[in-house]
Amino acid sequence: MSSDDNTPAPHFIRNIIENDLASGKHKAIVTRFPPEPNGYLHVGHAKSICLNFGLALDYRGKCNLRFDDTNPEKESEEYAQSIQDDVRWLGFQWDGAVRWASDYFDALYDYAIELIKQGKAYVDELSAEEMREFRGTLTEAGKNSPYRDRSAEENLDLFGRMRAGEFPDGAKVLRAKIDMASPNINMRDPAIYRIRRAHHIRTGDKWCIYPMYDYTHCISDALEHITHSLCTLEFEDHRPLYDWVLDNITIDCHPQQIEFSRLELQYTITSKRKLLQLVTEKRVSGWDDPRMPTIQGMRRRGYTPEGIREFTRRIGISKSDNLVDMSVLEGCIREDLEARAPRVMAVVKPLKVVITNFIEGETASREAGFHPNHPEFGSRVVPFSKEIWIEADDFSETPPPGWQRLVPGGEVRLRYSYVIKCDEVVKGADGQVAELRCSIDPDTLGKNPAGRKVKGVIHWLSAEHALPAEIRLYDRLFTVAEPDADKTRDFHEFLNPASLTVVHAWVESCVNQAAPETRYQFERLGYFCTDRRDHEPGGKLVFNRTVTLKDSWTKEQG
Ligand code: ATP
Ligand code: MG
Repeated sequence: MSSDDNTPAPHFIRNIIENDLASGKHKAIVTRFPPEPNGYLHVGHAKSICLNFGLALDYRGKCNLRFDDTNPEKESEEYAQSIQDDVRWLGFQWDGAVRWASDYFDALYDYAIELIKQGKAYVDELSAEEMREFRGTLTEAGKNSPYRDRSAEENLDLFGRMRAGEFPDGAKVLRAKIDMASPNINMRDPAIYRIRRAHHIRTGDKWCIYPMYDYTHCISDALEHITHSLCTLEFEDHRPLYDWVLDNITIDCHPQQIEFSRLELQYTITSKRKLLQLVTEKRVSGWDDPRMPTIQGMRRRGYTPEGIREFTRRIGISKSDNLVDMSVLEGCIREDLEARAPRVMAVVKPLKVVITNFIEGETASREAGFHPNHPEFGSRVVPFSKEIWIEADDFSETPPPGWQRLVPGGEVRLRYSYVIKCDEVVKGADGQVAELRCSIDPDTLGKNPAGRKVKGVIHWLSAEHALPAEIRLYDRLFTVAEPDADKTRDFHEFLNPASLTVVHAWVESCVNQAAPETRYQFERLGYFCTDRRDHEPGGKLVFNRTVTLKDSWTKEQG
């Protein structure tokens, strides 16, 4: 059982919903997740997905998936597909068909006509620069455009001709007529339609005018009878516009926009634009590079949907800024994998050990379960043989105080096997340790040695039985906790050059047929997952390190 069956944490959005249900304002809730298909989703979107779909599940409501496809140049079918895959992988299903803001282009156009007829929208032809100038500043009111008082007839005619393609891109815009002196700049006659001859992934070349996000979003929400429209805090100042549009058209629904704070995660960035840069500049292998904070990257690295869902539950929902420590995410993943990943052995930095008193047919192998708390995971035989691999780091000629692993003349237990003693250290021409010669105490298979204590336990593999594997060890993508914080410096400066180390390692033969995306704990090393793209069952074995084990060494040293 996964750990995310915990009861949901209360938060202010839940309180609002519960009040609305109790008062009868709504009989059931409808939420939506509204991504723009202009990139792959990241961990911040996971927060929004878990919030929107999670609330719908908890209150037996519905959640729509709606693509906000109003910027044709940046959007693609590939992105839209990956977003659907990600939502499903996280464990959610949207209500009915996937929806698109472009499904409402005709309706949006009609509502614009309605605004024009009421004298609440006008066609403007100030240049972009003049428009900026007229807008004013935070401290200074804006000025009315000389085109602001055109008659409804003239505006209808011009807007119809905008749609018909009579004017070049950018030559005119349709603006809502609100208040150029409003202290909220979003209310200073915002543009609601622009001319843009761009091929759209859904509507092709049908339109050469496209509605702006703020105008589109509220109407799309209302057309879908969304009850609670949840978005991130940067939209707080847009809420008056959201409400203004819905208050000034004939529509039977007025969703409540509620803002919550974005998730920011340490040692990473959550800007689609910057993530795209990492991909196009080949700083990473793609959107699904396991170092990327994208949902596809986390998936490929071995993170579980359950672990990510638990993470979003733990960080909670509020209106205060939250820069979350990476250890919170890693902790959730680790806890989830603790219970679900079978445990096997692997050696990433091999040192050969020759067992000098190995006797063919007499020296025994032992059976070992795949999980101490889950006998139903089954077991396998861990074969022993004359030559074994141990981790080079588990041997030291000059050990630090408290060391309990192997030293010259010392003893250590091989996990699931005998106690060995290091009788001889063989060095290569370079003076480095090349091999150890050890003897087993035959009376220690499955029992304590007589008359002495051997505390250290190390992992190992029979050299003859082990299989070669490529193991990719990942570290943080950035060297600083907030690579994006210093506006005078570029985030590229903080890329961690050592974020990926590829090692040629050995693994137990029982993992040979593992399908892509199979997770294991490699004892004492961490959690690993077979790579979705490059791993071939029975062929080239490729593992990604998902997360290390917490404090794997302190226990042995203490
Ligand atoms: P863009 O700059 O392209 O608009 P975006 O990150 O806002 O990027 P959207 O596709 O518009 O991307 O986001 C879809 C939904 O996910 C929105 O409701 C948005 O508020 C939410 N979201 C995006 N980033 C985060 C984040 N870091 N934390 C929480 N929610 C987020
Ligand atoms: Mg957005």
